[in-house]
Amino acid sequence: MLTDDEQSAFQESIARVRQLAARSLRQAANADEAITFVMNLHRSLDTVAEQAGATGPAPDCKAGCAHCCHVRVEATDPEVFHIARHLQALPATALAAVAKRLQQHAETARQGAPRQACSFLQENRCTIYTVRPAVCRKAHSLSVQHCASLAPQIPQNLRLLVDAEALMAGTAQAYADAAMPAHAHELNAAVWAALRDPTALRRWYEGDAAVLEHSHAVQSPGGPSTPGI
Ligand code: SF4
Repeated sequence: MLTDDEQSAFQESIARVRQLAARSLRQAANADEAITFVMNLHRSLDTVAEQAGATGPAPDCKAGCAHCCHVRVEATDPEVFHIARHLQALPATALAAVAKRLQQHAETARQGAPRQACSFLQENRCTIYTVRPAVCRKAHSLSVQHCASLAPQIPQNLRLLVDAEALMAGTAQAYADAAMPAHAHELNAAVWAALRDPTALRRWYEGDAAVLEHSHAVQSPGGPSTPGI
């Protein structure tokens, strides 16, 4: 729970990020540059997480621990296209294997499974680690026991969450200011939708907010929207 002063500081941070990001996004000459811009958000989040880990309570997260990769995960439009571009550069056989996993994920979600592993999780490692979305970068836990027992509340570093939320909200608003939608979509379904439709990226860049909307039809019901939260 934030105090009134902390709330004001939070809103000011969002406004500051929005202003800076909007200025850069206005200079994006094409869709490719517009989705590349989301890497600035990711770099900032990684820095915030690193600093929080160095100064605050130590996260209980370790490589190979993937409890938070079995809940609903969301990504914004530019993040989805950023991941799709990364996947499209893979060899054809690797891309086909990912597409098959995404399709299976969508089918399992359609059948109402409340929890399933993210399609990008292989042998408990993230296969898209360098391009993973913001929610995965801010996800952490101060108690792996809470994650393992599916506790409704996971203890977390509040400072990290607040700083991360300000970066994410400010960036999403800047995309919206530049007439490029940055709504939250279920990660797997949205990437699958982006890969299937060769016109999706162009239409998103032209301001079509519904490009990834139909991916919502295959979302898993319920569950938190952020890994580990
Ligand atoms: S994108 Fe990577 S880190 Fe995020 S939920 Fe999927 S496997 Fe886990």
